[in-house]
Amino acid sequence: MREMLDVLGVNIDMVTLEQAEQKIWAFLKGEKLRMVFTPNSEMIMLARKDGALKQVLNGGDLVIAEGIGVVYASGILGKPLAERVAGFDTAKRMITKLPEKGYTLFLLGGAPGVAETAKENLEKQYPGIRIAGTQDGYFDEQKEQQIIADVNRIKPDILFVCLGMSKQEKWIYNNRDKLNVKVCMGIGGSLDVFAGKARRAPDFYCKYGLEWFYRLMKEPWRYKRMMALPKFALTVIWEKIKGD
Ligand code: UDP
Repeated sequence: MREMLDVLGVNIDMVTLEQAEQKIWAFLKGEKLRMVFTPNSEMIMLARKDGALKQVLNGGDLVIAEGIGVVYASGILGKPLAERVAGFDTAKRMITKLPEKGYTLFLLGGAPGVAETAKENLEKQYPGIRIAGTQDGYFDEQKEQQIIADVNRIKPDILFVCLGMSKQEKWIYNNRDKLNVKVCMGIGGSLDVFAGKARRAPDFYCKYGLEWFYRLMKEPWRYKRMMALPKFALTVIWEKIKGD
């Protein structure tokens, strides 16, 4: 039985990072495709307006609290999550153990060259890891069919899909019956980090829940998108007051 938390209509699994990782290893032993989504407060706000996105997220087999905002919201809602479970951290934990577990991985997304560089870096860092294929994230519909055929020929166990928020979740959901893989994870800009093109916020920022602040300093043009964060907090409080 999954223990879920409803955050503005999006159901989040109440799991720790360790439990999320264990669930994914269990998925890999199963027969059917499982979808792992990693919503943050921005995505949850988007899902309030975009019913299709909400449906996609709620169709996930594991939906983890990507952002610290979601963790704070859980406290406001009276069902505190133990910790933030970022998609990047979950992916990293899995990658660390992939050489020993032997599962194969396919990297999809990012600008041309990014997935290949990520593959090279990961192969250097984790000798024995089996990265069975890569594909950039800029393709048209025709190419998309070819990508799906390629993935199915290669049959990787895990597919990391990094096409940006909302696009990657919908892509996974819409192709779930066509893809011959065990686990599909939407993990945003993670390939850029593995490729060394972007940096994860230093530990200090992550530890104190200030990753958003680091990102704002590095990418100030994102401030409009980031306004979703305070709006999210106020909406959660408002919905809570209305519901009580
Ligand atoms: N991306 C992609 N195809 C697209 C749009 C984005 O592969 O059509 C990639 C982009 O290159 C980046 C990643 O998706 O590596 C995440 O993009 P963004 O920083 O916008 O992430 P978000 O915060 O939206 O998840």
